[in-house]
Parts: sequence; structure tokens; C-alpha cells
Amino acid sequence: MDIEQLTQKILDGDRRALARAITLVESGREDHRAKAGELLSELAKHKRQSLRIGLSGTPGVGKSTFIESFGMQLTGLGLRVAVLAVDPSSARSGGSILGDKTRMERLSRERNAFIRPSPSQSHLGGVARRSREAVALCEAAGFDVVLIETVGVGQSETVVAEMSDLFLLLLAPAGGDELQGVKRGIMEMADLILVNKADGPLKPVATRTCADYAGALRLLRKRPQDPEGFPKALMVSAVEEHGLEQAWEEMQTLTAWRRENGHWDRRRADQSCYWFDQEVRQALLARLHTASAQAAMADLSGQVAGGALTPAAAAQQMLQDHLKG
Ligand code: GDP
Repeated sequence: MDIEQLTQKILDGDRRALARAITLVESGREDHRAKAGELLSELAKHKRQSLRIGLSGTPGVGKSTFIESFGMQLTGLGLRVAVLAVDPSSARSGGSILGDKTRMERLSRERNAFIRPSPSQSHLGGVARRSREAVALCEAAGFDVVLIETVGVGQSETVVAEMSDLFLLLLAPAGGDELQGVKRGIMEMADLILVNKADGPLKPVATRTCADYAGALRLLRKRPQDPEGFPKALMVSAVEEHGLEQAWEEMQTLTAWRRENGHWDRRRADQSCYWFDQEVRQALLARLHTASAQAAMADLSGQVAGGALTPAAAAQQMLQDHLKG
């Protein structure tokens, strides 16, 4: 299928074409990269936007269960929902935390839902680009909501927050000690904290946890992109499907406010610039990873070690010789 046909099919919302296109952007092959670039540029002209919701949480907190329940609620409202995953574990080990169990069975049978497991076997930078491009494809295919899931293990939250309009942090009910465990930086990224498993015997603990996090959020610096009362902490039960409706209402309130006040567009523009910057950095690093560049590095390292060149002089020579296209 040529790019023109593929473009049209994606714009028509054809799921098989979308799946093919995601495979294309995930490919590392040079000719595939070129085609993917062409496709993404074509699709970008149509300026379609979904609500992109990033979701993070440690393994076992209930991300899959939440996405399934929440996704079903959204499809129930007649919305089209895509689910993508950014899995940093697959970048390191080739294995996947997010992909290797049977997940979201109900949602995967929904006509209005599209679920794509995480790309594997790449460095986080590669995973980030592929995920971001997969998000762009889903937007072009007309999904109302794109859920982007990641495991809460550090760097991947930033990657996901930089490709989301809203960022949700899913937490489990826990004692006060656990509160310390959530890094301040992650808290600062969250638009909504959802304390999951607020059901059965865990409910009282969840209530306390939620109050603790609400208190912690109030202590954070007020962000210009937030209306009064945000970010918020809410209780949900993904299993019993409680609190999901309220969570969706809060997301809509926040989104509407940001749209009206210019923050939506500004965030999108800032994100594009962030990814431009990242692409430049990665392309530069890639130039230093060619065989000839690596050989030159080894040679210059030898000269630096032997005292023949200063580190700065060696670096300058390296850049002069290897950063030109
Ligand atoms: P993930 O690793 O974050 O994707 O977590 P899962 O969705 O696989 O859930 C981990 C475990 O928590 C499973 O046994 C779920 O049944 C359970 N779980 C998820 N959501 C809830 C909830 O709302 N209430 C209770 N009680 N258990 C839940």
C-alpha cells in the first residue's frame, strides 16, 4: 500500500491500516523510517486532536483494570478510545511489564476501542519516539481519547507526560510512609491523583490515603495551567467501577478550562518544541555511535589518557570530524 492510500485509510479510521502504520513507525529500517516520516507529515496537515491522557502507576496498582473499566465507560458514552503503552522495561531487557499478560479483554472486544501493546527492544529514546508517533497516528485516525499507559519507574513518566494533555497518577491505598515514596517530581506532573482499590476492606485506608495526597497536592506550587482546586486527589475502584464517572468529569472540567485559557494549545506547542529538541539530541548522539566515530573516540581517548591531548581539545576534534551530516 502506498503512503497516499495508507493516509486516506487512517483518516477514514480503518483499524487495520492504523495497526500497519504503527508497525511502520516502530520499524528501525531506514526505508521504513522514511515512509513513516512521510506518512506522519501528511497526517499532521489534518490537525486532528484527541484528548491524550497519560496514566502512570507502579505494577499491581490496577492500571490495566482501570483502563479497562474507564475505557468501557468512555466507549459507553459513544467515544472512540485508543490505548497505547510506553514500557521502559522492554527498552532495557526486551521483556515487557505491560504486555505479557492477557489484558483488557472486555475492552479489546469493543468496536470503538483500539489496544496496542508496547513496542519492545529499543532504548527509551526510541520507545519515546515510536510511542509519540503511534499517538499521532491514533489522533489522525479520529480517536476521541488516547490513553497512554506507563509503569511508574522513573524516567518514563516524563516521556509520557510530554505526550499527554492530562497526566493521571494511579496510587494504591497505603499508610503514610508510602506517601514519601512518590517522588515530588512525579506529584508535580499529576493533574489528577486517583487512589484506586477504594472498595471492600481497603476503603478506609483509601480514604485516608486520598486525604493525605490531597494535602500533599495543596502544598505544591500553584501551576498556571490549573483552575482553582486542581490538581486533585480522588478515590476510585476500577473493579467496582466507582468514581470513574467523577474522574471523567474532572478531566473534562480541566480540559475545558485549559482550552478556554490557551493552556491547551500552549502545552501542545511546548511539547512539539520539547520533542524537536530531543530529536536533535538523539540524532547528534547517533552520529557519535557509528563505527568510524567509535574508532575515533577510542583513538582520541588513548591520546587523552597519554596526555597528548587535553579532554577539551580531543572533544573539539571529535565534534569537528563527526558531527557534520
Ligand atoms: P497493573 O499492574 O497496574 O496493570 O495492575 P492490574 O490491573 O493488573 O491489577 C493488579 C491487581 O489489583 C489485580 O489482582 C486486580 O484485580 C487488582 N485490582 C485492580 N483494581 C482494583 C480495585 O479497584 N479494587 C481492588 N480491590 N482490586 C483491584
